Amino acid sequence: MYNIEATVKMKEVMKNYFSGMGNGEKKIAWCTSVGPAELLRSFGFEVYFPENHGALIGATRGSVDFIPVAQMSGFSNQVCSYTTSDIGSFLKKETPLTKHYGLENVPRPDLIVYNTNQCREVQDWFTYYSDFYKCPIAGIHPPRHIYEVTKDEIDLVVKQFKSIIPLCEDASGNKFNLDKFKEVLKLSKDATLLWQKVLRTAKASPAPIGFFNGIIQMGPIVVLRGTQEAKDYYELLLKELEQNVASKIGVLKEEKIRLFWDGMPIWGNIRHMSDFFIQNNTIIAASTYCNSWIFDDFDEENPFESSALAYTKIFINRSEKAKIEFLKHWAEEFRIDGILFHDAKTCFNNSNSRFGMPLIMKNILNIPVMVIEGDLNDMRFYSEGQNISKMETFLEQIETRKMYS
Ligand code: SF4
Repeated sequence: MYNIEATVKMKEVMKNYFSGMGNGEKKIAWCTSVGPAELLRSFGFEVYFPENHGALIGATRGSVDFIPVAQMSGFSNQVCSYTTSDIGSFLKKETPLTKHYGLENVPRPDLIVYNTNQCREVQDWFTYYSDFYKCPIAGIHPPRHIYEVTKDEIDLVVKQFKSIIPLCEDASGNKFNLDKFKEVLKLSKDATLLWQKVLRTAKASPAPIGFFNGIIQMGPIVVLRGTQEAKDYYELLLKELEQNVASKIGVLKEEKIRLFWDGMPIWGNIRHMSDFFIQNNTIIAASTYCNSWIFDDFDEENPFESSALAYTKIFINRSEKAKIEFLKHWAEEFRIDGILFHDAKTCFNNSNSRFGMPLIMKNILNIPVMVIEGDLNDMRFYSEGQNISKMETFLEQIETRKMYS
């Protein structure tokens, strides 16, 4: 069985990140997964990401217990299931962080910061906690769903970035230090460019990393952006994957089909899905999700402008037209035979199949596409039997096409 050896180190890095978090040694800032983590780190905060907690709950199948608790307190079953998993866990006073990292609770925030570049849900989710903890909160609200990101938009977002500095100073007790911000941003840029190279190793056949390895390997780039630890980890991982490419060692021994995954992972079904695709000699060679943490516009010489640009131009914040261009580029770059669109019931923000995109991509690329109905955490919206038979038919269709092309 294929094994990425660096994973042992990644587990250690993640354990170190969580261990002692919230013990009072460092002030804690909560941040959205594509929020201004570098700016927060430059003030000396340890940065905690509730979405990472949501994903951990999903992957460890805790959502089944926690989502109903959030629903009983008034949240609809249509609301982002990261939010309802996280809030249910909070209300139930249980967290997988205890078993996995020895934390009794999620760390109490000294400051809460969000960016609605991904969705408005984070604003409501984070405000819930700000009200409970009586904790200061600040939001960045960039223009949404844009085709091109212009200077006007960047100027607006730069203003918003700068407006949270006084709150950060109050909550951290430290003055803003431009050199420190540049230093953190440089570390973040280095790590994100390494992550990009890691993902690009999957251009090779057999690919040494696929979607299901990628969503595990992305832990440090989500929670440790701006640290030496993240940079060091991706250097190690890249080295191993490049060696595997050179030795022609990949996730699959025989790689017959290469797919693209659009949208959120189905966290509660990762193992089954991964096994299914391995058994069918299929690699999911690229995804919008793993690519979401590539911020190649970071420039430490222009830290505010480049942060505003990088965090505003992310895939999820773009128009349908811009997203189509991204997908076309990735499908060609990774020699994709078909695209899977995950229509996540509780995250329309990251479900791109609802305005005709599958058919558009099918016509542009002349490859099969398929929509999986499911959800990131709420497995009541995912029918395994139905989706597996749809996927079997989809893979057969691709194989037949490849045979005759
Ligand atoms: S993007 Fe989707 S999954 Fe992520 S926080 Fe927003 S609604 Fe939830």
